[in-house]
Amino acid sequence: MLSRREVLGSASGLFLASRTRRTRLARVKVAKDRVIRTTVGLRPFRPSGFVVRAESLDGKTVIHNYGHGGAGITLSWGTAQLAVDLGPPPDERGCAVIGCGVVGLATARLLQQRGYNPPIYAKETPPGTTSSLAGGLWEPVTVFDRPRVTPQFRQQFVEATRFAFRRYQSLAGDAYGVRWLPLYSLASQAPGIQPPPPESPYSEIEPLYPENQVLKHGEHPFSVPFAQRRYSMLIEPAVYLTALMRDYLVNGGRIVVREFHEKRELAALPEKLIFNCTGLGARELFGDRELTPIRGQLVFLLPQKFLQHRHGPMAY
Ligand SMILES: Cc1cc2nc3c(=O)[nH]c(=O)nc-3n(C[C@H](O)[C@H](O)[C@H](O)COP(=O)(O)OP(=O)(O)OC[C@H]3O[C@@H](n4cnc5c(N)ncnc54)[C@H](O)[C@@H]3O)c2cc1C
Repeated sequence: MLSRREVLGSASGLFLASRTRRTRLARVKVAKDRVIRTTVGLRPFRPSGFVVRAESLDGKTVIHNYGHGGAGITLSWGTAQLAVDLGPPPDERGCAVIGCGVVGLATARLLQQRGYNPPIYAKETPPGTTSSLAGGLWEPVTVFDRPRVTPQFRQQFVEATRFAFRRYQSLAGDAYGVRWLPLYSLASQAPGIQPPPPESPYSEIEPLYPENQVLKHGEHPFSVPFAQRRYSMLIEPAVYLTALMRDYLVNGGRIVVREFHEKRELAALPEKLIFNCTGLGARELFGDRELTPIRGQLVFLLPQKFLQHRHGPMAY
């Protein structure tokens, strides 16, 4: 399985295409004086993967939902679904979400859709969150170290990925800043492009991608013999997070700006059920030393004519 960097990098990360048999691609103008912005963020990575589980805390239940590494945008709806399924009994409406990044917002929205009215408590809201700094490609990569994956985690990962993939499809369009695009990875020989082996969790994810195929020379626009093309979605964080916050607020949501310094402070909240969606913040708040910040950087270029990027500048 290729990393997101390899997938984008191998296609130079510089091309956007229309779906024709022999696709013509516009060349992106990359030059230092076309750079308009550089952002750096820290991905909340855990070698054994994200945490979705329940814990008791001073008479309350905390349901953790954090540690999504380089795929929090990708997985958010899926792990939110897993977390909410662990959650409230039908008669217990008093729940809250801690964290207003993509994971907290998806969790709060699913709770609203099930008839609950959770406030969100958070130190920062978009655009001040890590989620706002993401590239936003739908790719469940940089989520775990393969040797650390347990069968239980694998099951959660596959379930979350499938659910999230379906959910994003229903959000495609300008309103949420979600759109389909082709991803290419290039190889000089056909066996250079291998499907994930059966023992890899990605072997169950790969079939999700539509029109996933290896194209021969003449069927793709690159100067190498083979290109694997598959389609995925790009979720533009600025548009998407704004839309999610709007949905949450118009459905009766309430955001309380507040920082928690230790988990005992959560015990003082009026809600009995708390969804912990604090991303990297869970390291200090819940003493999870496995959480490791992984640096990521994006560089934005001036918008360019003929590139299909509707909502602003192009990142590479
Ligand atoms: C450069 C870069 C590129 C990326 N590209 C992609 C990509 O293409 N696709 C993809 O799927 N993912 C990508 N990611 C990963 C993605 O951004 C993260 O996995 C995701 O943002 C994690 O979301 P979150 O809601 O868990 O955390 P956050 O967005 O960090 O939100 C955490 C929330 O918890 C709050 N909080 C934390 N601690 C406390 C506390 N003590 N008290 C109160 N509130 C607290 C914060 O204020 C915030 O509101 C990228 C990340 C980076 C840095």
